[in-house]
Amino acid sequence: MHYLDNSATTKVLENSAKKAYEMMTCHFGNPSSVHKLGISALSELKSARISVADLFGTSADRIFFTSCGTESINTAIFGATNKLHKRGKHIISTKVEHSATLKALEKLEGNGFEVTYLTPNRQGIISLDDFKNALREDTIFASVMHVNNEVGTKFDVVAMSKALKAKIPHALFHVDAVQSFAKVPMSEVCSHADFISVSGHKIGAPKGIGALYIKKGVSITPYLYGGGQENGMRSGTESLPLICAFAEACKERKNNLDKNNKYVEGLYDYLVNTALETFENSSLNGENTIPYIANISFNGLKSEVMLRILQDCDVYVSAGSACSKGKKSYVLSAMNVPHNLIDSALRISLCPENTKEDIDAFINAVKIGHDRLLTLK
Ligand code: PLP
Repeated sequence: MHYLDNSATTKVLENSAKKAYEMMTCHFGNPSSVHKLGISALSELKSARISVADLFGTSADRIFFTSCGTESINTAIFGATNKLHKRGKHIISTKVEHSATLKALEKLEGNGFEVTYLTPNRQGIISLDDFKNALREDTIFASVMHVNNEVGTKFDVVAMSKALKAKIPHALFHVDAVQSFAKVPMSEVCSHADFISVSGHKIGAPKGIGALYIKKGVSITPYLYGGGQENGMRSGTESLPLICAFAEACKERKNNLDKNNKYVEGLYDYLVNTALETFENSSLNGENTIPYIANISFNGLKSEVMLRILQDCDVYVSAGSACSKGKKSYVLSAMNVPHNLIDSALRISLCPENTKEDIDAFINAVKIGHDRLLTLK
């Protein structure tokens, strides 16, 4: 199998899966229980929080576990705007955010908030000047992704947060770092953002676990009420197997960050150079991208058909984000990519466990599709 759809989700790392099993069968106590089993579960929870915080480059008390990236994003967006709504109703975001952000903002628009959605340029970049020009006296919140999930473009969230704070010191800034976590160092983002959302299943942990970083001194209304877990921010008995499996993945990714990034950069260069040299109808979408995501259009070859041909060759990529379920990419549309290149775009997303053989298999499968579809014309 040649799995190149790691931005949709990743295979669980072996140590991460083992840890989940160990937590389910040995340390299965409730961390709120006062007996020995509870105490050992609590101790596992504490060390897991430290490991996740380490990958952020922050302290453990700033990390709140959630069930996924979507929950983290919703907690930040609704928590921040609920806190600040009396000081203004204007929000800044972009047209290329994940639907977790866009749908939450849409809900706020229905409740009287006004959102300015910034448009990327043809290369997928959101301009800092556009961000600055969108700032208003009544801006209370901004939410911008660190890395785009379809194209891999990296946005200058640190500069945007600085610009927001310089004009409106009380406004809050959220970063969706679901696609950059464990790939791009996060400590500088932690020093400038008020909230950072991440998700376990994008970095080799199981599905069902995420985290929200909240800056020291920033308080928001919780999303879930109950037993007061997660320092009152997110009630509900902690999912120790998932939390500890996530922590295991964070440890492994942190220990190998530079090595992994260098390795994936090599794979990316090989992929992009080979694809562009081999197929004259191919073109790369986006600039300033991280090496984990390549969005390539194969003009004339419809992505849905190519996905099926690739699947027959045991090669798995996607045509856009997993959540878009085959709809036309709103990200590439916002970038003003021509329709024929949107219809023929494939997202190839890498992880450190991929090999050169996976890339070769992808190129060979595209050749098969290319020959089959173009000879039909
Ligand atoms: N934000 C981005 C950029 C994503 O790519 C995703 C998932 O694809 C999410 C948020 C949602 O994360 P989750 O699937 O953990 O809810």
